[in-house]
Amino acid sequence: MRGLETQVVHGGREDLHELGVHAPPIDRSTTYPVGSLQDGIDDVDELAAGGHPNSSPVYGRLYNPTVARWERAIAELEHAEEAVAFGSGMATITATLLAAGAAGRHLVAIRPVYGGTDHLLTTGLLGTRVTWATADAVAAAIEADTALVLMETPSNPTLALVDIADVVAQAGDVPVLVDNTFATPILQRPLEHGATWALHSATKALGGHGDVIAGVVACDAERARTLRQVRIATGALLDPQAAYLLHRSLPTLALRVRAAQDNAVELTKRFDGRAGVSRVCHPSRPSCDPDGIVGRQMDGPGSLLTFEMEGGFDAAARVMGAVELITPAVSLGSTDTLIEHPAGLTHRVVAEDAQSSCGITPGLLRVSVGIEGVDDIWDDLDRAIEVANRG
Ligand SMILES: *Cc1c(COP(=O)(O)O)cnc(C)c1O
Repeated sequence: MRGLETQVVHGGREDLHELGVHAPPIDRSTTYPVGSLQDGIDDVDELAAGGHPNSSPVYGRLYNPTVARWERAIAELEHAEEAVAFGSGMATITATLLAAGAAGRHLVAIRPVYGGTDHLLTTGLLGTRVTWATADAVAAAIEADTALVLMETPSNPTLALVDIADVVAQAGDVPVLVDNTFATPILQRPLEHGATWALHSATKALGGHGDVIAGVVACDAERARTLRQVRIATGALLDPQAAYLLHRSLPTLALRVRAAQDNAVELTKRFDGRAGVSRVCHPSRPSCDPDGIVGRQMDGPGSLLTFEMEGGFDAAARVMGAVELITPAVSLGSTDTLIEHPAGLTHRVVAEDAQSSCGITPGLLRVSVGIEGVDDIWDDLDRAIEVANRG
């Protein structure tokens, strides 16, 4: 198998030479000519069953070649047979739950997860019964009609690290969905550890430039067929222009992830003993990785870090208000550094007792470290913390 650095550059581009082009074409067709009627009938039958077309994509909701190229690249990176893209990370999670038959059945989830995911599960919109379990209590939470186990690692927002193989073992026959958004396939490939699906909000590091909303899930070919059936039926498509931008961003994924990670490691060191800050978490710190996940399951600690202001909510709000280079904004995985307040923003929709049970405190801030010069990022953070400390 080719190295990751080669996969990101060449993935999904196999047909370009034959097409006589160097950059992937953007196919914006909403409909496609069918050859003979019988060819069209055969393609409709195959597409409706979640397959790939033989001669014509027939209709833009059924299949798009530009999207399919990016999907092939992601499948290769995740060491999966196939990948299926959707219009957002949340559309991807919803489709995966539907494809797994979770509607009307039971699901086990490990907190914390992204606020939107928590919200989807707690609202009961899909008619799924949810048991929230800690990572060591998954086995006990499995029931006769459990459709899947859902988990994130590193988790949003606290960066809790979960041993995927251990959860897979506890789950037994029940398939495990890993939201791999924070790690990216550069640092972690959940299928290597027994997960059934590796899922991404591609809005984050895969897009990487803060200008695309998208999602993708990688899995075996049979499950990918069901996912495409759900996509056709629900219409939660990824636009080809967005797929082009995602494919455009992919060659630099490894470079971006590693540069941001180097900055995060350095910033974490500079936080040592910083007055006004009570706790810093980054998986490069043994205290944040008690089970030694980095080096075993993850190839690096990643580019997200959290810190806790001693002065609680008010101090955290002052930091958010005082940053100048850093943008006070949700989202993550962009080239620029972002800072956000999970309790007030991304995880606002999570019940307060659930927030506190998994460490989402009023003084907690989450930083998505970018690829700027590390001295400039630190100067801005340090100054903002100083402003907050003065009250
Ligand atoms: C942002 C995010 C999502 C949701 O993705 P959207 O593209 O915003 O729909 C899901 N999981 C994680 C871990 C996220 O950070």
